[in-house]
Amino acid sequence: MIKQAIFIKSAADKTGWIIDEIPEIVFVGRSNVGKSTFINAISNQNKLAKVSQIPGKTRLLNFFDINNGLFRIVDAPGYGYAKVNEKMRMDFAEMMEDYLTTRTNLKGVCMLVDLRHKPTNDDKEMYSFFKSIGLNVLLVATKLDKVKKNDIIKNEKMIKQELKMNSDDQFVKVSSPDKKTVIGIYQEFINLLER
Ligand code: GDP
Repeated sequence: MIKQAIFIKSAADKTGWIIDEIPEIVFVGRSNVGKSTFINAISNQNKLAKVSQIPGKTRLLNFFDINNGLFRIVDAPGYGYAKVNEKMRMDFAEMMEDYLTTRTNLKGVCMLVDLRHKPTNDDKEMYSFFKSIGLNVLLVATKLDKVKKNDIIKNEKMIKQELKMNSDDQFVKVSSPDKKTVIGIYQEFINLLER
C-alpha cells in the first residue's frame, strides 16, 4: 500500500522535470472526473492533491514521491474544460505531448473516466494517443457509488467499447469515498510499473 506520499514539486515545462531514474505513472482525466479525490484516497491524505482547484487554471505537472522513491505519481492538469482559451489548450497539449513522448521515467498512465458517462472525445483522443505511442494504461472509472447496480456492468462495457480499449489494459471501478474500492489499486500500479 501507499505508506508515504509526498509532494515534491510542480513543473511548467521540461526544465522542471526531476532528473533521476525513479519510474513515474502519470495521472490524467478530464476536469472534475475525481482525480484529486482519488489521489488523496489512495494516499490516505486529505489535501495532497487539491480537490476542485479552479478547473483549467493550473497547467502544471505535479510530482509526488511514493513510498520513499519506489515510484512517482505525476498529476497532470485536467483536460476538456470548456472555458480555457485556445492558447491554454495549446500550451496544455504541447506540455503533455512533450512529457508523454520524451520522458524516459514514464512507465504507464493512470487514466480516469467517470463510470456514469460516455467517454468524451477528449477521453478517446487521449487514450488512442497513449496506445499509439505504446504506453500501458490503467483505466480507473470513478464515482461507482453514483451508478445504479444494474448499470455497472453495462457502463463498463460501453466505456471499453467507446475507447476501443486494449484487452491488455486493466479496468477498475472505484468510489473514492469508499476505501474498500481502492484497496487493490496499489497492486495495479505495481503491475503497471512491471509490464
Ligand atoms: P478533479 O477535477 O478530477 O480533480 O475532480 P475532484 O477530485 O475535484 O472531484 C470533483 C467532484 O467529484 C468533487 O465534488 C468530488 O467530491 C466528487 N467526487 C470525486 N470522486 C468521487 C466518487 O468516487 N464518488 C462521488 N460520489 N463523488 C466523487
